[in-house]
Amino acid sequence: MKLARFSALSLLFAFALLLFAGPVRTTAAPHVPSFVLVAHCGAGDYSKAPPGFIEPRREAMIVAIKQGYAILASGGASLDAVEATIRSMEDSGLFDAGRGTYYTRAGVPEMDAAIMDGRTLAAGSVASLQHIANPIHLARLVMEKTPHVMLVGPGAEEFAKSQGIELVSPFYFYNERLWELYKKAKSAGEKKQSSALKGDRDDEHGTVGVVALDQQGNLAAGTSTGGTVMKMPGRVGDSPIIGAGTYANNESCGVSATGTGEFFMRNIVAADICERVRYLHVSLEQAADDVVMKELVDQHGDGGVIALDRQGNVTTPFNTTGMMTGTVRADGKIVMKGWSKTAEPIIVPASQ
Ligand code: ASP
Repeated sequence: MKLARFSALSLLFAFALLLFAGPVRTTAAPHVPSFVLVAHCGAGDYSKAPPGFIEPRREAMIVAIKQGYAILASGGASLDAVEATIRSMEDSGLFDAGRGTYYTRAGVPEMDAAIMDGRTLAAGSVASLQHIANPIHLARLVMEKTPHVMLVGPGAEEFAKSQGIELVSPFYFYNERLWELYKKAKSAGEKKQSSALKGDRDDEHGTVGVVALDQQGNLAAGTSTGGTVMKMPGRVGDSPIIGAGTYANNESCGVSATGTGEFFMRNIVAADICERVRYLHVSLEQAADDVVMKELVDQHGDGGVIALDRQGNVTTPFNTTGMMTGTVRADGKIVMKGWSKTAEPIIVPASQ
């Protein structure tokens, strides 16, 4: 009886305590936004590049990455960050994309691009463009404003006009350095030095690509390119082929590739990496390494990829001697590396 009275009293006491003190408070962990953006500007060999080649390209990448970072940091979508970062690199004229596009054998630049939304698997791509300043933007419009995934050549440019995009003249893409290289390669080709017409991959780099993960946990990937040096007119590479050079799926990962596109198309490299993650449950790093450093190497397929998953893991394997990349996370530090296998990374703040 005494015991029962005692327990009833202690219950009452506990109740009163709760009433006056309120519920037990725990200090909630502060919400740390998490997002990642990784960009590349092509695989190749920077050690053969003339002096002063690397620095302006690194700077242009940093400028571009800052734009993507600002979008992600303010809670924006990975798709917007991918498009803005690539647009900036296309406009710089320093990469084989947009304004800096290489010439085809016919002396006219031709561009390809693709963008993909990992949340919905929506994708848009464009190829063989000759008059579009920002192919990545047109790829986005194909994704959002048409029932199709890919538009090419004059049809794609007609669509661009219908969307209010101004067609630019070939002079917009004029670049003295590239024109000199083109003339040299063409005259060597006329003397039947077939390597000149094939292009020397070691001297080529400049395709641009970005993969991003936003604060909502959505992945997106995009790639923009002028293709390979001295490509045949009408040749389309891997970059605009969904699953070959560009792929994003929230279930697995996002990938943008660079290298001799024919190998990336035959091996559906970007999708293969993501499907290995999805079905074999291997890490992103292992999947990308197995494809880029084993399968492609066995076939002499040169190049590399940037890959990112929803957990924020990033891997950037390349089987050439260089592939410049920049990665930024919520800590606001852009980590630039890859212009040689041994180069020390350079870290710069992402805030303007
Ligand atoms: N993959 C691109 C293409 O084959 C070229 C490159 O990445 O350098 O069109």
